[in-house]
Amino acid sequence: MHSAATLSPQPHRACGACGATGYTVSHHQRFIVPDGYPLASEYNVAVCRRCGFVYADPAATQRDYDRFYCEWSKYDDSATATGSGISPYDAARLSTTASDIARALPSRAASILDAGCATGGLLTALRDQGFTAVAGLDPSPRSAAACRERGFEAYVGSISAASAPAHLPKFDCVVFSHVLEHIYDIPAFFTAARRLLAPGGYLYLETPDASRYDDYLYAPFQEFNTEHINHFSARALENTGRRFGFQPTVVQQKTIQTAEDTLYPAVFGLFRDNGGRADEHMVVCDQELPSRIAAYIRHSTEQMERINHHLANQLANTRRVVLWGAGQFAMKLLALPCLAQVEVRAVVDNNPILRGKMLAGAHIIGPEELGQQEIADASMPVIIATLLHNNEIGTQIRRLGLRNPVLSLLQNSHEVAHSTVDSAVDSEGRRS
Ligand SMILES: [Zn+2]
Repeated sequence: MHSAATLSPQPHRACGACGATGYTVSHHQRFIVPDGYPLASEYNVAVCRRCGFVYADPAATQRDYDRFYCEWSKYDDSATATGSGISPYDAARLSTTASDIARALPSRAASILDAGCATGGLLTALRDQGFTAVAGLDPSPRSAAACRERGFEAYVGSISAASAPAHLPKFDCVVFSHVLEHIYDIPAFFTAARRLLAPGGYLYLETPDASRYDDYLYAPFQEFNTEHINHFSARALENTGRRFGFQPTVVQQKTIQTAEDTLYPAVFGLFRDNGGRADEHMVVCDQELPSRIAAYIRHSTEQMERINHHLANQLANTRRVVLWGAGQFAMKLLALPCLAQVEVRAVVDNNPILRGKMLAGAHIIGPEELGQQEIADASMPVIIATLLHNNEIGTQIRRLGLRNPVLSLLQNSHEVAHSTVDSAVDSEGRRS
């Protein structure tokens, strides 16, 4: 958790936004990852010295990420994945995206491809806006089938050369919503995206807004995970588009609702393909993003230290624990000093993809297995490895009839900076 700014000796990749290779290290992030995990267990968080873009610099290749999303991703479970447009807040989010696209495109006859369409929530919202030629692309055959059931053309695959479907037509607009923050090889991404576009076509790009991570700090270092490796601001998104010959026509911040009680900062832009003529002279250094990220790192570090301190006190006479959760936060929690001294007897997770895998020397099991097997007696404490859903999990543990003591990560929930929609709004008001 050291966050002293140092110069990087050997970058693994160049800045995605401007192509420069010189960066300052703002943070070093460590994870304890499951055995066989395709992604790196540590990386520098880099600040580009030329343009101010912030990005993770793991030793990896795009293929590692392709393999991860193919074999380890939870997103092909359409029942739990977002983007289905089922919940009212999700439908509202997708409707806003559709009207933003409608404002920028000259005609409702424009053909639109949603790359990463899930079960067709955005396609439906676009059809509601009057667009008649919308289609979806998704790596999950189940998602593509769900789109077809809703009356849309849908293709199985992704835009990467290895898994792009044959005979994909060209589109007037291609939508990549919450894709770009996951991409390791950004130049290859734009080359592939351009192949899908008709001449003069538009890209709709939406990502988390890194300039406001600190205003929505639900869990420390939440955005520095193994999947989000590019941290865009509006300016960084503009720089990135221009670098690859896409002229920004509109770039805006937005705040989206991602769960019943969770708001999330995002930024989107519509970019017109100018034939690939990069505009290197248009790189505008983002002065704000590095300092906003520094504040996010500072506040996350403070919160992580409080968690370590609080857990260490509770674990003083404990040698074996059960960890509830094998997700991104668990991978950071396991790297804390307080957990280095205890044996993790089992890791419980609801995600079926993780079952049977090993994490920190323990088997990952389903919730119902914990009581059945001779894994943990009732005296063994359970650490709930999430700050967002700990009440629900506490309830689930009792409903399963488990009597194990449950350890909290923090003294009280108010220590979580912004834990609900209401408090996020309050805090924004206070800070501004
Ligand atoms: Zn840069």
